[in-house]
Amino acid sequence: MTVRATARGEDRSSLDGTVVDVLICGASFAGLAVARELAGSRARVLLVDRYEIGERATSACAAPTPWLHAMGVAEAISQELAHMRFTTPYGSSRYRLPWSWSSFDYRRLCELLYEQSGVPFQTAKVQRRGAGAPGRISVETDRGTINAGLVVDALGWRRVLAADGYQPPQAPLSRGLEVHPHTDARASSALDVWVDRSLVRSGYGWCVPAGGEARVGVGSYEPADHVRSPTVDLAARLGVAAERFQGNWFPHRLRAGTEGGVFFVGDSAGHCFPLSGEGIRTAFYFGIACGRELRAVLEQGLSREQALLRYSRFSASHARAYSIALGLQRLIPVLPPRALTLALRVIGYQPIVDRAFGWYLDQAHPSFAGRSPEPARAPALMA
Ligand SMILES: Cc1cc2nc3c(=O)[nH]c(=O)nc-3n(C[C@H](O)[C@H](O)[C@H](O)COP(=O)(O)OP(=O)(O)OC[C@H]3O[C@@H](n4cnc5c(N)ncnc54)[C@H](O)[C@@H]3O)c2cc1C
Repeated sequence: MTVRATARGEDRSSLDGTVVDVLICGASFAGLAVARELAGSRARVLLVDRYEIGERATSACAAPTPWLHAMGVAEAISQELAHMRFTTPYGSSRYRLPWSWSSFDYRRLCELLYEQSGVPFQTAKVQRRGAGAPGRISVETDRGTINAGLVVDALGWRRVLAADGYQPPQAPLSRGLEVHPHTDARASSALDVWVDRSLVRSGYGWCVPAGGEARVGVGSYEPADHVRSPTVDLAARLGVAAERFQGNWFPHRLRAGTEGGVFFVGDSAGHCFPLSGEGIRTAFYFGIACGRELRAVLEQGLSREQALLRYSRFSASHARAYSIALGLQRLIPVLPPRALTLALRVIGYQPIVDRAFGWYLDQAHPSFAGRSPEPARAPALMA
């Protein structure tokens, strides 16, 4: 049974009429990365999410290890994975990566990021954009309307604060579902990927070892295709229990980084990488970029419009990498499986692995994170 940590009923006082300088909606990877960049700021900042911080994981929680170090959250690592193994119906290729993946504990990682931010937090469900007073944007929540000069939507693929919210299965979204069986996964050093049409027509399966559990799942690039039975099938093939399900949609198309005066970060801006469905690192990366623009408004006299323009251009400047990945996402499912197996073997030649995975990391490199901000204590909510 899921134990809810989120306050209910009388514990949730009204937030109606609250005025802040910065409102960050969504307290997962993207929202926390934005908040962390505002550590030590004198501005009134408020972070909201419908759940308590770290309460609801929706991912296999694997990210490049150098990013977890750069964000100061290495303490959350469950297991480091130096290899990737790709399996098709005709064989397997195992790669030694030039950098490693690490699986991590979602709750702990979120707590660590939050501690670094020092930003007040409230649970509130964001419903829509309100009318707003001049110079301010208002956001309607189930605890009343909050007004802010700067607003960030880090609410995931629904892009709640935009005029053009997405609706699956028509939208360019992939869907993923995984199980988290308790098993001792420590003996494995590989993140496993299956590209097998008998499992999923257009997509892939994965197994991420994470210490005392494995995260076994299937993602489909076709939003209309169901992933429950392929996930159960993969768990059966691996001889693990299909238990503790979790799933979500994730975008595979880059979207505008700003709209109507709002900053969009992470899945709400389509920052999840096509092909791999990797969206944690990019949520960090674009969250940091957004946080830096907000800071420039708060402390260096940059106007909101200038910050919006700079951030949206920064986000759009990555379009080429996203379109290459989307092209591969379309190509791989239609390649004859024997040709794909051969291609995976050729790529397995170490200089090619180093080059390909080096390029991939470069698209959102951990050096962008820079120095971790000083830890700060969360002050009380300002109304
Ligand atoms: C099954 C699966 C496995 C995955 N595995 C990986 C992986 O191993 N590695 C990787 O890099 N990527 C993975 N991804 C993709 C990754 O999870 C996302 O790209 C990433 O979570 C995006 O982060 P985000 O902060 O933008 O959005 P989210 O993580 O979706 O966070 C959105 C936040 O907003 C809150 N929220 C949503 N709506 C509202 C509302 N109306 N009001 C208030 N709060 C709201 C949510 O509670 C949540 O805290 C996986 C995805 C799936 C579905």
